[in-house]
Amino acid sequence: MTLKLYDTYRRSLCDFEPITPGKVGIYACGPTVYDYAHIGNLRTYVFEDILRRVLEFKGFSVEHVVNITDMGHLTSDGDTGEDKMEKGSRKAGESAWDIAERFTDAFKSDLNNLNILEPTTWCRATDHIPEQIADIGKIEAKGFTYKTSDGIYFDTSKLDSYGYLARLDKEGLAEGARVDVGEKHSLTDFALWKFSPMDDQRQMEWESPWGVGFPGWHIECSAMAVKYLGEKFDIHCGGKDHIPVHHSNEIAQSEVCHGTTLANFWLHGYFLETDSSKMSKSSGEFLRVQTLVDREYDPLAYRYLCLTAHYRSDLKFTWESLDSASIALGRLRSAFYSWDDASDVDPDFLMRFSEQVERDLNTATALAVVWEMAKSDLDSSVRKATLLEMDRVLGLDLANWEPIVETIPEEILLLVESRRLARQEKNWPLADDLRDQIVGAGYELDDSAAGTSVRRKG
Ligand code: AMP
Ligand code: ZN
Repeated sequence: MTLKLYDTYRRSLCDFEPITPGKVGIYACGPTVYDYAHIGNLRTYVFEDILRRVLEFKGFSVEHVVNITDMGHLTSDGDTGEDKMEKGSRKAGESAWDIAERFTDAFKSDLNNLNILEPTTWCRATDHIPEQIADIGKIEAKGFTYKTSDGIYFDTSKLDSYGYLARLDKEGLAEGARVDVGEKHSLTDFALWKFSPMDDQRQMEWESPWGVGFPGWHIECSAMAVKYLGEKFDIHCGGKDHIPVHHSNEIAQSEVCHGTTLANFWLHGYFLETDSSKMSKSSGEFLRVQTLVDREYDPLAYRYLCLTAHYRSDLKFTWESLDSASIALGRLRSAFYSWDDASDVDPDFLMRFSEQVERDLNTATALAVVWEMAKSDLDSSVRKATLLEMDRVLGLDLANWEPIVETIPEEILLLVESRRLARQEKNWPLADDLRDQIVGAGYELDDSAAGTSVRRKG
């Protein structure tokens, strides 16, 4: 079956064919490393991981590029406000370079805990300043820029196709705009280069043909994507919030620089929402993978929860839904563990599973096939082989799971053995004393005809 993916640009489900047979290039917008990632951000990376795994499952070799935004992302999409990195640095009392490194490491560890495959290429915005300056130069040479007192801006009114990705109603926006656009010519214009303030020394700034400053956020992604994947590659993805601004601007820059829309497919993950509002790092209170671990959840239970919803629908997060995902994952793990060693795959179940994931990554319906297969009367060795194949896409790491076997400390085992001997010798006072010691140390004894078992009190 041909893989079908929903392309936001065409607003339809399209058959996926790579530009180069057998090979797929994916660019996924990475984190802005001024703070930890919240589990909402990570839902987007789980979706992108499923995309990559499905492509690999189908036999493609995937070049997966993820950037680290370590500068230039302002607190407002309208190119005003502070640079998030400088703000994060002040909040943490560390240099912007240090927080970038610390939160990049934390992000990579989150990905690892969620069994998200490591991208084939990581690229940092601050390592690609010359590439960004070169692209801004091209846009300027083609007459699509203007200068204000705080930077060089892209003039969106000069590009007829501007905003097609988001189906932006440009006239409506212009008429309805009561907001102050400052020196910008129109609301949708965006910064390519921002000047460092005269009265302030920024931690992150570079020389450029336009003066000392730093690149706008959007140019980093299009410049790095082209460097690693070419002027037109297969798939560009990110969260749905990127459709109206960040990705619309990336496309505009690429149309002017290279005459392309940058990617053949634009895929967007919908949001994880909490009861009251969507997750927001700026609110200061947000759920991290570590928050889940602190509450004794396995991070893969969160991954399972993400798989229960289609990536193109918002998912409401509740602790009850995480509990259900945790129970389901536990059942799947124990079943898988109890089955005989893997033998042959069942082709019918595997085909039904593939049909679901190849229909725009429908993991929710694919999970229904998984459960039907797991409960079927196929030989358990066949079920194990089939589930192993399915797990190449699900990424639940079933093969490496083992039940936690309780280890009883040596001194407790010695007390249990002494009690056994005391009972054999009918020395009841000593046996009772030993029992008290064992119970006092936090263990329970269970005497039966087969002998005595001991376990930690639950
Ligand atoms: P940021 O670090 O803010 O640049 O965001 C990293 C990624 O997370 C981007 O692809 C965003 O679109 C995505 N994202 C942000 N908030 C959410 C959310 N609540 N649910 C899912 N994805 C999100
Ligand atoms: Zn991006």
